[in-house]
Amino acid sequence: MQDPRAYSRRDFLGHSASCAAHVGLMAAGVPLWSRGVWTRQERFPVVASEPWGRLEQISEGIWGLVSDPLTDRTTLCNGGIVSGRAGVVVIEAFGSDDGARWMAQQALRLAGRAPTHVIATHYHGDHTGGLSGAKEASSPEVLMTEVTRDTMVERNNGAPREILSEAQVIDQRRPTEIDLGDRSLIVVPRRGHTDSDISIEISDPSVVFCGDLVWNAMFPNYVDAIPSRLSQAVRLMRRREPTTYVPGHGPLADDAAMGLYIDLLDHVEGASRRALERGMTAEEAGTEYTLPTGLEDWTLFNPGYFARAIGAWMSELEGA
Ligand SMILES: [Zn+2]
Repeated sequence: MQDPRAYSRRDFLGHSASCAAHVGLMAAGVPLWSRGVWTRQERFPVVASEPWGRLEQISEGIWGLVSDPLTDRTTLCNGGIVSGRAGVVVIEAFGSDDGARWMAQQALRLAGRAPTHVIATHYHGDHTGGLSGAKEASSPEVLMTEVTRDTMVERNNGAPREILSEAQVIDQRRPTEIDLGDRSLIVVPRRGHTDSDISIEISDPSVVFCGDLVWNAMFPNYVDAIPSRLSQAVRLMRRREPTTYVPGHGPLADDAAMGLYIDLLDHVEGASRRALERGMTAEEAGTEYTLPTGLEDWTLFNPGYFARAIGAWMSELEGA
């Protein structure tokens, strides 16, 4: 097993193009008590349970997938299914063709109709690696931003270029509505985890699919992050009314979990500013960093994630 910290940034992107690529490598290091927290946090009835994750029914016609990448890497990221009279939307194309095929089958089983749309929240491989599998059965329309599409082509020689060339490009400046007849999804362009993220939002019931702008019960990956934008985006996404947030990784979140996550982002910012003042390197500060009170049971997939987060902040603060 190669220590992922030994990768240069370029190597890291080249080998994996994925924000959860090292999840499997690190699973052996995750303490058992952490795994217990992970599996305990079911919020809604579970309608499918597999080694790679569980599908929870958030509401009539809305399901959220909580992947368990510590056990199996078939789906890798979270995602969901939203069904309406005029169509069925699958959120994310997942880490593998098998994972995307499985979600398409779940859509057919639960909604009674194969997917009509597949939306990728950003370009990382654990959210887009199964695009070919997602297209197979019902040839749904693929939606993504231009940056997501172009970055996939740029970074990944194996990207399915034909599918990408036919993808419907989502507006990067203003929200887009997907009208499913009796229900609408609003696709909101955002930035922070990468330079082009989207959230997929429903008002009644209040549900937000956050992509990797939000992580729950695990420390986020800042590999391509713009840290100040990330903090802003998460605050903008948070709603006043009771809402279910589907994070990119980790159990489904409520407002309290969002609050903890925002506190964590601020804590990382504070640690980064202090480290910069003291003339420390990101690696030194990452080694010293400890999670804030209340988040001690969060999973750290990769021991390099603290240094990466602090390094991202330092680059932004020094460049400002
Ligand atoms: Zn990501």
